[in-house]
Amino acid sequence: MKLRFEEVSPECQTLVNDVRKKYFPELAQANIKVLFDLKKTSRRKRLVLGRIMSPNEFIRYLTIPEIDEGYDYVMILDKVGWEVLPREDMVRIIRHEFRHCYVDIEKEDRKQMYAIVDHDYQDFYEEIELNKDDPHWSSRAGTLIEDVYEQRKEDAKEKADDGTPKRGPGRPRTIK
Ligand SMILES: [Zn+2]
Repeated sequence: MKLRFEEVSPECQTLVNDVRKKYFPELAQANIKVLFDLKKTSRRKRLVLGRIMSPNEFIRYLTIPEIDEGYDYVMILDKVGWEVLPREDMVRIIRHEFRHCYVDIEKEDRKQMYAIVDHDYQDFYEEIELNKDDPHWSSRAGTLIEDVYEQRKEDAKEKADDGTPKRGPGRPRTIK
């Protein structure tokens, strides 16, 4: 069965853990699930590099057999992004998503302890500071991933035409 989401690779999970440990000590006790999205998602004509959500009670309940008390957050990363982006961009994406997590340790109920906050504007002020060496990194990353999706679509079309692939499997045409 082919589903839209899959488990992230061990390397990706390690990177997520490293980012969490380095920048977000307040999330040390949170149960966080990380998944790859195999389908391109756009919002307002911009490719979505990653997203994070706090599961509703229904999803939380379903995940209890896997993890005690269920997941507090689910982070979803574009799989093509993981395949083609440099590590530093993945760090930026993961850090951005964690920035949406708001932890209120005063709350006893973990449903209320782990909340989601929106951006300060389009990003977070902390991220502007950390990314000042490459302020346009996200549109660059988005364009690259769009190109790879396009290329893979063309490759699949060619393959379907005569049954034999004419090119390698979905390599990006341009990496800038
Ligand atoms: Zn965001």
